[in-house]
Amino acid sequence: MFVCQNQSCDTQWAPDAVEIRNEGQGPLFRCPLCGARNYLEASTASDGTQKYRQIRQPAAPTPSTKPARQGGKRT
Ligand SMILES: [Zn+2]
Repeated sequence: MFVCQNQSCDTQWAPDAVEIRNEGQGPLFRCPLCGARNYLEASTASDGTQKYRQIRQPAAPTPSTKPARQGGKRT
């Protein structure tokens, strides 16, 4: 299930309810409701099927000072 990352929309979509395409920055789908771009990460399962995982919008390619990672807790 994908969730539109437009905070005022926040609509959930089944993966087969949206059109996934690549506009040059990797796979994404446009929210059918609000038109927001929602970026995806493609992976190929062991049975050969293509799967998509929703990711955050890629950061702009400008170097920035990232805050030091706090703690060591990873899930
Ligand atoms: Zn939306």
